[in-house]
Amino acid sequence: MSSKPEVLKKLETLRPELAGELYTDTAWNLMYATDASAYREIPAGVVRPKHKEDIKKLILFASLNNIPLIPRTAGTSLAGQVVGSGLVVDVSKHMTSILEINAGEHWVRVEPGVILDELNKVVEKQGLFFGPETSTSSRCMIGGMVGNNSCGAHSILYGSTRDHVLSVSGFLSDGSEVEFTGLSLQEFEEKCQGDTLENKIYRQMRDILSDPSNQEEIRSQYPDPAIHRRNTGYAIDLLLETEPFSKGSETCEQYPHMPHASWLMAHDDRISSFNFCKLIAGSEGTLMFMTEIKLNLVPLPPKQKALVCVHCNTIAEALQANLIALRYAPGSVELMDKAIMDCTKDNITQRWNRFFIEGDPGAILIVEFARETRDEITDICRLMEAEMRDAGFGYHFPMVFPPELKRVWDLRKAGLGVLSNYPGDRKPVPVTEDTAVSPSALPGYIRDFDAMLAGLGLNCVYYAHVGSGELHLRPVLNLKDPADVELFHTVALETAKIVKKYHGSLSGEHGDGRLRGEFIPLMIGDHNYALLEEIKKCWDPGNIFNPNKIVGTPKMNSSLRYEPGAPAKEFETYFDFTSSHGILRAAEQCNGSADCRNNVVTGKWMCPSYMAMGDENSTTRARANILREFLTNSTKSNPFDHAEIYMVMDLCLSCKACKSECPSNVDIAKLKAEFLQHYYDSNGIPLRSRLIAYISSINRLGSMVPGIFNFFQKNSFFSAISKKMLGFAVARSIPLLHKTTLKHWLGKNLPALNDGLGKKNGSLYLFVDEFTNYNDVETGIKTVLLFNHLGYEVLFKDHDLSGRTFLSKGLIRKARTIAANNIRTFSGLVSPEVPLVGIEPSAILGFRDEYPDLAGPGLREQAVKLSGSCFLYDEFIMREVSEGRISPMQFTSEPAKVKLHGHCHQKALASTDTTLKMLSLPVNYSVEEIKSGCCGMAGAFGYEKEHYEVSMKVGELVLFPEIRKTSSAVIIAAAGTSCRHQIKDGTGRKALHPAEVLFDALSGRVYNHPGSPR
Ligand SMILES: Cc1cc2nc3c(=O)[nH]c(=O)nc-3n(C[C@H](O)[C@H](O)[C@H](O)COP(=O)(O)OP(=O)(O)OC[C@H]3O[C@@H](n4cnc5c(N)ncnc54)[C@H](O)[C@@H]3O)c2cc1C
Ligand code: SF4
Ligand code: SF4
Repeated sequence: MSSKPEVLKKLETLRPELAGELYTDTAWNLMYATDASAYREIPAGVVRPKHKEDIKKLILFASLNNIPLIPRTAGTSLAGQVVGSGLVVDVSKHMTSILEINAGEHWVRVEPGVILDELNKVVEKQGLFFGPETSTSSRCMIGGMVGNNSCGAHSILYGSTRDHVLSVSGFLSDGSEVEFTGLSLQEFEEKCQGDTLENKIYRQMRDILSDPSNQEEIRSQYPDPAIHRRNTGYAIDLLLETEPFSKGSETCEQYPHMPHASWLMAHDDRISSFNFCKLIAGSEGTLMFMTEIKLNLVPLPPKQKALVCVHCNTIAEALQANLIALRYAPGSVELMDKAIMDCTKDNITQRWNRFFIEGDPGAILIVEFARETRDEITDICRLMEAEMRDAGFGYHFPMVFPPELKRVWDLRKAGLGVLSNYPGDRKPVPVTEDTAVSPSALPGYIRDFDAMLAGLGLNCVYYAHVGSGELHLRPVLNLKDPADVELFHTVALETAKIVKKYHGSLSGEHGDGRLRGEFIPLMIGDHNYALLEEIKKCWDPGNIFNPNKIVGTPKMNSSLRYEPGAPAKEFETYFDFTSSHGILRAAEQCNGSADCRNNVVTGKWMCPSYMAMGDENSTTRARANILREFLTNSTKSNPFDHAEIYMVMDLCLSCKACKSECPSNVDIAKLKAEFLQHYYDSNGIPLRSRLIAYISSINRLGSMVPGIFNFFQKNSFFSAISKKMLGFAVARSIPLLHKTTLKHWLGKNLPALNDGLGKKNGSLYLFVDEFTNYNDVETGIKTVLLFNHLGYEVLFKDHDLSGRTFLSKGLIRKARTIAANNIRTFSGLVSPEVPLVGIEPSAILGFRDEYPDLAGPGLREQAVKLSGSCFLYDEFIMREVSEGRISPMQFTSEPAKVKLHGHCHQKALASTDTTLKMLSLPVNYSVEEIKSGCCGMAGAFGYEKEHYEVSMKVGELVLFPEIRKTSSAVIIAAAGTSCRHQIKDGTGRKALHPAEVLFDALSGRVYNHPGSPR
């Protein structure tokens, strides 16, 4: 490759040629320097082609200028497949169409950037789906699945992607367009004639596979054909078993474990004919650039499903139990070991998903059955349990049916990502995590593997698709330590030798990439490896397609994400990052799994900015990676002082969804706030940020003359001028001030209210946040009256702001002072018996989320203690309901329908279940939660002119359409002040705070308090 300035110059000549985007700046290059593996290489640039014409131009440019192309979709590869120094070509943005569905013939034609879950959502309407389901199905794309020959938990039934690729179209390295599909003998011979590159590659393959010595070498050295999951090198062993060479010997008998395979072959006899798709699947972008893929679809599995979660004492016991399970024709058998289960204990979402775990099992086998009836499944499960118990395997066998079943799979899916939660630098490393041997060989294989690890003084995390002999074994290593980097290599090499001993495949599903390429000669023999080199040379003589993968792979412990032996860097921070061993390691928690490249199909909400924009720079991953890069490599005295970090953080809505949904608990809202303060320290605080942070001071002044203030906000002329001058979106309405403040109202009315209490159920302190105090005063009054009516003395102790506006704008020093004031005010005053209760989730939850990390060593303990006495209004009410002090009888029996939009902070840090339960107290209220995440307003984010569009797009994902189709008779409830505003701006509907809804539902309500709402 040419030198960097030369490459940049050449790339500039390419830019005007492309319809898609070309990025050559540092931030974009760094975002694409890693995937979900341990590797890192900074590319020369990133291209997002608009269509196949762009790809053709790229290929011609690449060969002319000797700049490699790295095809990429979601970048979830675990072996470094999409890491390289050339141009990363990301087709995930524009090439995302489902082109044609033929339900009758059970196939679909797609572009490479179609997400698996989205595809399945579409074809399920036709009773079909794409069989191989990876754990990454929410974001991995068909191009990447074909590239890596991916498969999933149900590979016993559905095989791997290769089994379902009917044809692929795309470009060869000379820019010629080809389509690969099943060929008759005659068609094959015709393809071998002529002088095009396509003709040459057919001819070469014919020559290689017709040679008896090659045939002998391939059959004796490639992995055992009974192991269906195998991704070692190019799959010439499978091409050898096709018609021109083996008279179509690939038959149904080769798939005894795959009932669907027999259907597949009956359906399409071309499966046994020569088809280069077998080679392309698993070729990791090294042979061609795919632009279209035709996939086989299979009928949806039987409706009834259940899991048996076999609790075993040891892994060895689980591996024996697996052999029994396989006799009962399960859809899948998965293994999770204790280390993985322990990792899920501290993850907010995964804790909830551990409901089925009893005691402290050494391993759990998850055995899945799908049958026509529930009884059929129950019978099978009982028989299997009895046989296992007789053999002395397993001590607890809970059966889990839908909907809980999904939670078990969610826990299992989170497994690999959650592994990153090992605090500090020692982490379970993907190195031997993808071996496949026959299930009956597993106990012996594991014995040898354990002995090898023990000899090296290592331990390991076990996680596996044991039903198909696939083990995700991850030894714990510190890849910052040069000694462990050597061990990394030793472990890989020794594992390869053991896999070879058991005729297994070094990769069962994740592919060779940078990680395993080095060992392909060992796995398939030097002779066969030389054939692979010949193939690559013929297909891609200029080595422009994803070099260094499969052939010519450098040593597997080079080009790693961390520089071995580099001195550890520590940074002074305002937040306490002790639990993650410092801010840099908090960023390093991101392992690239890309759960944050999320979409609405999953029902999850990390990351809304990516969901709205579909750009890698809007992902949580990009934010964590860029922060890691600059904190690691910056030479500035203030390492936060980089516009690149600002760029990726800018579209973060601070919704905190990542804190609960990222399997590695990457908490960008906290990292962003910390970053902003340091960034401002070098660059100054923008006026608008200052205004937003100090909005309460402005509101305090405005509240002296609310009429005048509101006039200027409501007057379109004045309002537009001020919004434009200050950088706010003109289309936004600015929150108006109430004629009084809540604090003022409380001062006037609380004594009388408390004196007038009939029966006193208890007392609480009200936290009067700045939004309720100035803007949503009626909500505040109704909440107070609600508590009062229910028999609670509402106390008020004047206090500081919540600090939310300072936190969200990154004015952390000020937020810290505020937090300290509040901690001092309420510590000793409130207790679980007399708690502090808040109305606005983003304000009160600061006591539980940010304050303990912000308080500083002197106040930390107090802050943690205080956080246990801080409740949301609905949490308090439901606690009192459970204590029998509040009853549904106190509310109307009139029917009503309510739709709730939950606040994103509440969803991430607490739960909206309490709100749903609270709103269901009136016996005839039917309450439904809108499956929305962050509303898109996110405090001031949606008011800012450059964020308005993203904000509205986030609203349009689910919330707005759902509200628009809701009848006006239905009450819309939303606890967040920003959410209510966003709903109003986006749909014109008025949403009520849930406490207001409950207030309105009080039976025998009294209105005669001064100032009470009418
Ligand atoms: C937490 C986690 C769990 C995982 N679980 C599984 C699992 O259960 N099963 C499994 O099989 N894998 C699993 N993987 C690995 C990975 O998710 C899969 O390999 C996935 O299919 C890759 O898809 P992608 O869109 O991310 O592809 P990428 O990583 O972007 O690319 C994969 C390969 O395809 C090539 N490619 C992409 N597009 C094209 C194109 N248009 N033309 C030519 N080549 C192209 C790339 O060059 C690369 O070599 C897991 C990974 C993680 C991080
Ligand atoms: S931020 Fe979390 S979900 Fe996103 S890639 Fe990193 S670890 Fe995965
Ligand atoms: S806080 Fe929300 S918007 Fe920001 S990175 Fe996390 S999930 Fe994305």
